[in-house]
Amino acid sequence: MNPATSTRAPRPAGKVWLIGAGPGDAELLTLKAARVLGECTIWLVDDLVGPGILEMAPARTRIVKVGKRGGCASTPQEFILRLMARYARAGHTVARLKGGDPFIFGRGGEEMAWLNSRGIQVESVSGITAGLAVGGALGLPLTHRGVSRGVSLVTAHTVDGASPDWRALARSGLTIVCYMGMSRADKLAAELMAAGFPAALPVAVVQNVSCASQRHIATTLQHLARDIEAHRLGSPAVIVLGEVVGHSLSLPGSAAQADPQQRFG
Ligand code: SAH
Repeated sequence: MNPATSTRAPRPAGKVWLIGAGPGDAELLTLKAARVLGECTIWLVDDLVGPGILEMAPARTRIVKVGKRGGCASTPQEFILRLMARYARAGHTVARLKGGDPFIFGRGGEEMAWLNSRGIQVESVSGITAGLAVGGALGLPLTHRGVSRGVSLVTAHTVDGASPDWRALARSGLTIVCYMGMSRADKLAAELMAAGFPAALPVAVVQNVSCASQRHIATTLQHLARDIEAHRLGSPAVIVLGEVVGHSLSLPGSAAQADPQQRFG
């Protein structure tokens, strides 16, 4: 048949959903993420996505693991982008499922722009980012009246080696939540102290936030690297720096345990 006179309906356009899976505990997935995931026929999954979430996949779902953990064998980003485009153009509703939130150290912005510039429809669903999940996981108030007026999420690991403006952050009095800092905790602590953070600043390190395997320690900035090593903590973990660490219900010697009134003051 002459293709120009074909009456065959065009294939319906697919779509990509960038979905935050939260920090690991399947119950921390949003209701919207759960609903949208149920509509997606292909799930492209990061390796920080909790196993309980994968168990929710309907039987017809094709799950493709495209993890890219620092220092490990990883799927090239370019490959993941092309895979998303290929499935969407074939008419699939594709879930790009990421640990935490897609827009916090998750390349969500880059992927959205790439898909959009190729005319592929893309929408996103927020997830609870690992650093903020520490609050609920440890009863640790990341902001606390009279103690911390805000929180800053930073990465200790950038491709070009650039650091945040630590001096400005030291002066800010904000709680700092540091992602991707475990492999260079010694250098991180040295940089922070050189920038004016006190050596005795309380610090919490929380590995596998919200998962059954969650582990955490409380220490001080000067002893950060030593204590990470002593307790054999590793990635994925977030490092929380600030006086609020002394107000956690789950950490020893905290003000919250010593003085219940103060928690609500
Ligand atoms: N988009 C993710 C962050 C990905 S970057 C989010 O919003 O959470 C990877 C870093 O995130 C890890 O090196 C670690 O610092 C942190 N991270 C991710 N999941 C974590 C978890 N369950 N527990 C502790 N840290 C986690």
